[in-house]
Amino acid sequence: MKLFQSLFSERCPKCKKVLNTSKSNALQATTVKFCTELHYQKEFHPGLELFVESDHVSQ
Ligand SMILES: [Zn+2]
Repeated sequence: MKLFQSLFSERCPKCKKVLNTSKSNALQATTVKFCTELHYQKEFHPGLELFVESDHVSQ
């Protein structure tokens, strides 16, 4: 699945670091990608088939 593979090579649009990955919800299999410098965050919801992007990290 091309869309899913792209998750593993994404970089922060600001500092170009490779995004870290964490599974925020095991039941929903939601994957969160975030910049370690807290510039950028992207959530992937496989069940809903959507991405949620934001320019800050909410942790
Ligand atoms: Zn960054």
